[in-house]
Amino acid sequence: MAELPAAERKKHFREVPLGYSPEEAGREAARCLQCPKAPCRQGCPVEIDIPGFIRRIREGDDAGGIALIRETNSLPAVCGRVCPQEEQCEKFCVLGKKGEPVAVGALERYLADREEAPRRTADGGSFSSSFRVAVVGSGPAGLTAAGDLARLGYGVTVFEALHAPGGVMGYGIPAFRLPREILDREIERLKNRGVRLELNTVIGAGSSLDDLFRAGFSAVFIGSGAGLPRFMNIPGENLNGVYSANEYLTRVNLMGAARFPETGTPVLRGHDVGVVGGGNVAMDSARTALRLGAERVSVIYRRSREELPARRDEIGHAEEEGVRFLFLTLPTRYLGDERGRVREVECLRMELGEPDSSGRRRPIPIPGSEFVLPCDLAVVAVGNDPNPLVPRLTPGLETGPRGTITIDPETGKTSLPGVFAGGDIASGAATVIEAMGAGKRAARAIDDFLRARR
Ligand SMILES: Cc1cc2nc3c(=O)[nH]c(=O)nc-3n(C[C@H](O)[C@H](O)[C@H](O)COP(=O)(O)OP(=O)(O)OC[C@H]3O[C@@H](n4cnc5c(N)ncnc54)[C@H](O)[C@@H]3O)c2cc1C
Ligand code: SF4
Repeated sequence: MAELPAAERKKHFREVPLGYSPEEAGREAARCLQCPKAPCRQGCPVEIDIPGFIRRIREGDDAGGIALIRETNSLPAVCGRVCPQEEQCEKFCVLGKKGEPVAVGALERYLADREEAPRRTADGGSFSSSFRVAVVGSGPAGLTAAGDLARLGYGVTVFEALHAPGGVMGYGIPAFRLPREILDREIERLKNRGVRLELNTVIGAGSSLDDLFRAGFSAVFIGSGAGLPRFMNIPGENLNGVYSANEYLTRVNLMGAARFPETGTPVLRGHDVGVVGGGNVAMDSARTALRLGAERVSVIYRRSREELPARRDEIGHAEEEGVRFLFLTLPTRYLGDERGRVREVECLRMELGEPDSSGRRRPIPIPGSEFVLPCDLAVVAVGNDPNPLVPRLTPGLETGPRGTITIDPETGKTSLPGVFAGGDIASGAATVIEAMGAGKRAARAIDDFLRARR
């Protein structure tokens, strides 16, 4: 797939991959063997009929192809861009055994991008059921549950703490990977289906789950995500210029910090930026720092290249844009100037030992290998924990040891009657499509629960 050249794209936030032309899509679709058992489908958490939509591309029926995808996936333009396809559908594609698997994700994106833009409807959909369902959080889990429930005829209201919907898809993933207009189009379609959005509303702080039931909702789905940043708890992490990736990316993506003072939210800009971590969040932070004018951006990762958890494409994009990688390196403390702004980061070199419980080789510090790097901005991207607000303020809601809400994985049922949960709040930080799969299963279970009450 064609991409913007690295030298040009790091000056702005426009999307990097340009998408297939009809000819390219046709050629790629022609490679699919239309396997009767479709192993690619086994890898898709929402079970899209992959050979079915590819066949429609081959037949020139793009409208039929996207209609088929939408039967199981309400965010195809998002999934076609950010799903880790190489670990899901494409991993199981039979063509991958000897060569390149079919580019299922790129074909999904192709169809979604050619779909007609949604027209705004005045009142949204109509409801065949008198039951109303409340959804907490507008990330992929909440939006999928909401969309499926609206399709089943329920009135659905999504309560979102932030001023814009989408969860991590809006505040975390930068526009050069997922343009905001693409996300907004998908959300508009859900509104047309009748889903109501109440933004700037934090459930748990002002109103509790009980308040929602008292207000007439008959069931609640909690999809409040894993938005609590983890830190390393090393000295100097409280210096100015040390951000969590969440705060850094939110300031830029959601609050328009790149356009400050035109917008009201600034973000510190660094010359020498250190990004700690090796996942997609670290890649997004590093590439964002470059676009904000950093001279040198270093990803500091305690294991080796083989263990980097980020998607291969995103690592490649970061490297092409000039991000450097410091492998087998562990930050141990930040050093600041007299005004309390970070200036340097002290690190330790590591070597790899035996595999740990994650199956990856354990990084072990090499004594006496300390060194100091110049660093006037640091972004800590070492993981996120479940958002604690709803679990902490809801008596009787059972949680697991890592702060996740405990659910029945088949149904999303929690310990409280009528309360369901799914996505990162129940699984811990995972992926968009897994959150969507959880939203889907919960919608089915909520339907069963409400049918039993009729
Ligand atoms: C920077 C970044 C990059 C990523 N890149 C990828 C990627 O490339 N591919 C991929 O598949 N996954 C990626 N992920 C992971 C993916 O985005 C998440 O797994 C997914 O968004 C989880 O969905 P969710 O619906 O459970 O929660 P979220 O997307 O976190 O949404 C939860 C929403 O609930 C709201 N909320 C929380 N508490 C309350 C409350 N009390 N009241 C009201 N609203 C509340 C939050 O404001 C938020 O909008 C990335 C994550 C990050 C942070
Ligand atoms: S496994 Fe690959 S070749 Fe077979 S149907 Fe799926 S995408 Fe096509």
